[in-house]
Amino acid sequence: MLTQETASRIKSEIRGQVRFAEPMSLHTSFHIGGPADVLVVPADREDLLQVLHIAKEEKVSLTVIGNGSNLLVRDKGIRGIVLKLGNALKHWEQNGNNFIFDSGVSLAQCCRIIGEAGYTGMEFAVGIPGSLGGAVYMNAGAYDGEMKDTVVSVEVISRSGEVKTLGREDLQFAYRHSALQASDVIVLAVKLKVKEGDKVAIQAKMDDFSQRRISKQPLDMPSAGSTFKRPEGHFVGQMVEESGLKGFRIGGAEVSVKHAGFIVNADHATAKDVLQLIEYIEKIIKENYNVILVPEVLVLGEE
Ligand SMILES: Cc1cc2nc3c(=O)[nH]c(=O)nc-3n(C[C@H](O)[C@H](O)[C@H](O)COP(=O)(O)OP(=O)(O)OC[C@H]3O[C@@H](n4cnc5c(N)ncnc54)[C@H](O)[C@@H]3O)c2cc1C
Repeated sequence: MLTQETASRIKSEIRGQVRFAEPMSLHTSFHIGGPADVLVVPADREDLLQVLHIAKEEKVSLTVIGNGSNLLVRDKGIRGIVLKLGNALKHWEQNGNNFIFDSGVSLAQCCRIIGEAGYTGMEFAVGIPGSLGGAVYMNAGAYDGEMKDTVVSVEVISRSGEVKTLGREDLQFAYRHSALQASDVIVLAVKLKVKEGDKVAIQAKMDDFSQRRISKQPLDMPSAGSTFKRPEGHFVGQMVEESGLKGFRIGGAEVSVKHAGFIVNADHATAKDVLQLIEYIEKIIKENYNVILVPEVLVLGEE
């Protein structure tokens, strides 16, 4: 819990949005999650710096989120400050085939800007509902691409306020992995290098990818995308479906009937429901296929 003093400092020193006891269910694509002691959306970089400053001085824990599209927040919520960047830091600029985006820009907007300028390389990301910061952190990918194919460097800030640039070699990208996962720096901006392309072909590719998502994924229900990472040589959705788990429910959490690789929030699911369902799927897949599933969804917050 925040002290009265920390709460008043946040209220008076931060210019962006400040919400106390904010339900995280309002900030995750799963629509699940207990309250954050305080959720802050900084107005700009200077404001972000002030949030870091307060967190350090007041010794309050600070959790960074982007668009909350790969998160399961536990039912007791998150202590300390949640810093939401998905709605802040939206500047971008182009220099030939290099684009620099603030980390709060959505992947959808980034793909549209790059595509409309006649550059190819980011079409794969068109339907991924994250921010650029979250996408680099996760090395998000789909179809024929991953973030690692286009990222040149990222500008990051440490918790004590030092800004530096990390090159792609520093980021150690691998399948749904980047070195950022073992660090606590915050991504401020991302530099992408793309190639000149044909605008019509780029748009057609994005339309095709969007169409494929609409037909295969449960986009009409709250989820956090694929629940598990893809184990080598196997398809999670196929194994879960073959195990007869499509539509299987624990509480309000359900294995999607449309795509068995997704867990959806079918009816006021709690994080506990989802975690129990994850555990159950892991157990059945281990028994049936001797495959160990590893969640792709990240779990945050207090048990
Ligand atoms: C319907 C649906 C479809 C999806 N399809 C795909 C897909 O095809 N491919 C795929 O890879 N993913 C997919 N996802 C998952 C998700 O969209 C991606 O993982 C995305 O990159 C997460 O970005 P985010 O901004 O929402 O990050 P969040 O979920 O908010 O956070 C994820 C992690 O990134 C960290 N983070 C976020 N921003 C920053 C920052 N600025 N600096 C430092 N750390 C940061 C957070 O601390 C957290 O640990 C899907 C999700 C949904 C709901």
